[in-house]
Amino acid sequence: MSEKLRVLIAEDDSRLAGMLESLLRSEGFSVELARDGQRALHLGLTGAFDVAVLDRGLPAVDGLDVLRRLRENGVTTPILVLSALGTAPDRVDGLNAGAEDYLAKPFDIDELVARVRALTRRAASVVPTVRFPGGRLDTDSRTVTLDDGSKTVLSERESALLELLARRPAQVFSRSLLLEEVFAAADDPGVVDTYVHHLRRKFGRTLIETVRGVGYRLGALS
Ligand code: CA
Repeated sequence: MSEKLRVLIAEDDSRLAGMLESLLRSEGFSVELARDGQRALHLGLTGAFDVAVLDRGLPAVDGLDVLRRLRENGVTTPILVLSALGTAPDRVDGLNAGAEDYLAKPFDIDELVARVRALTRRAASVVPTVRFPGGRLDTDSRTVTLDDGSKTVLSERESALLELLARRPAQVFSRSLLLEEVFAAADDPGVVDTYVHHLRRKFGRTLIETVRGVGYRLGALS
């Protein structure tokens, strides 16, 4: 795959932020920088990142609060927390808040890069099952198994659409974003509605919610 991995860096120390940015760029990542917790939260909720590096001591919203709020909103991006607080209880706080990894400052820059890479690899090898209220989708076999045990095999595009909605259940997706991520950007936007219709016909109208004027998000089986 030639597409760049996307990393979010949230760090208010501009020297360190600049260094991390240029280092990860040189390692082939596409980098977005947030200088405070508010911005980090916004980017984390709206952007699709493969991994995030989050400073714990951020202005506006504390790093661990950013982390908790991302997890509460269904964001599953692997996150490495950087912190000057490096005792065992500090690490436990970070992991309990939903971090995959925790690195105390000062850290070795090569170790940071290695850990970021490890997190992206781990995420890529995640079990291909995604749950949604009322059932689960196995993305390898494209099979939906409802909680009553009934199984339905989806087409490739139906599966890709449901997977995206189910992996980020709090996010409202515009048609153009769905078009870009699931279909070919050159397709007619109406194709999104067609596939939403297919999924609703198979699983009921409430599986996918229409957010008027915005787009679609995951609902629940009725
Ligand atoms: Ca800081």
